[in-house]
Amino acid sequence: MAAEVARLNKIIKALMDRAERNASDQVSEYGLFQSTIMLEERVRRRTAELEAALRENEKINRALRESEAKFRGLVSQSLVGIVLIEDGKFSYSNAKFDEIFGYTSDEILGMGPLQTAVESDRGLLAENMRKRVSGESDRLHYVFHGLRKNGVAIEIECHSAMMIVGNRQLIISVIMDISERARAERAVKVLQEELRSQSNHDALTGLHNRHFLEASFGRELLLAARGGHPVSIIMGDLDHFKAVNDRYGHLAGDQVLRSFGALLTANARASDIICRYGGEEFLLILPGMTKEGARQRAEHVRQAMAANIVSYRHHQITVTTSLGIATYPTDGRTEDALIASADSALYAAKAQGRNRVN
Ligand code: GH3
Ligand code: MG
Ligand code: MG
Repeated sequence: MAAEVARLNKIIKALMDRAERNASDQVSEYGLFQSTIMLEERVRRRTAELEAALRENEKINRALRESEAKFRGLVSQSLVGIVLIEDGKFSYSNAKFDEIFGYTSDEILGMGPLQTAVESDRGLLAENMRKRVSGESDRLHYVFHGLRKNGVAIEIECHSAMMIVGNRQLIISVIMDISERARAERAVKVLQEELRSQSNHDALTGLHNRHFLEASFGRELLLAARGGHPVSIIMGDLDHFKAVNDRYGHLAGDQVLRSFGALLTANARASDIICRYGGEEFLLILPGMTKEGARQRAEHVRQAMAANIVSYRHHQITVTTSLGIATYPTDGRTEDALIASADSALYAAKAQGRNRVN
């Protein structure tokens, strides 16, 4: 525009010069004078138009600068890391991105995305970049193990998209450091697992507890009914256990309970359910086992316990067990009926002198 004004001015000046020369030659050229006036008028109009256009242009530029400042402010204040990738290198990073990885923004500009990931995740990043650049997927969301400048690995959640600006391909990635969140989630999982285990297990012996028994016994009977196979249960109770506590102390009694629990576990099949049923009463559920099989198993437990010496401080303690057996479906079809049957068999074993299987 400025060039056009200059050009028009030049033409006017040339015409004026000519007019002046002609006047000095005493030659009156009315036509020339007239066209000079018209040209002057045209130049005035054109100049006004150009000035208005310049003002408009300046307004647009100002609005663009303001808009750019606003968006820069937004991006730089963002709580998530934002980065632009061009030709496999970072071309812009916001302050949060620099903070997450521990680099200055100048250092980031010389780097490529792969340098922000631990070695084992670089393949994943390279593959994801390839997918976006090739247009296979223009938007990706994934988690990878990032690598800070100080060598510490962090967990990064990344949303990444393709952008075309002018004729350039840009990848814009928005990232969050989710290390803390991931750690908390893992801790919650461990805690939940612990709680689940605690609610199903007895703290002293590590065996299943009655709560677990109630949940699983019915299911075993149902499976047995469907499959037409037996289920045997063995109820065991330590003999004269009160005397152990009285003589050696409660902690010694605890040690005997733990030892009996370990003995039961050592003799179990994978499908057996071994529970601490009450204080010193234990219940074994043996899916698929006949009464005869259960009798052999109970006899084995009885003998093993009678031969088992529990060391507590300087004491060597031996405790025997009495065991009662009941088998589905001959001795009962329900959980209660079977437990009552095993309990009365146990009671009979006690009555017959203890250290017996009945
Ligand atoms: P019996 O041969 O007739 O079974 O006699 P017992 O002494 O074993 O029977 P009783 O039921 O009278 O005693 C059970 C004892 O078990 C009483 C109780 O103090 C003890 N006991 C229950 N739970 C625990 C425990 O967790 N730790 C210890 N040390 N003792 C326990
Ligand atoms: Mg007892
Ligand atoms: Mg008892």
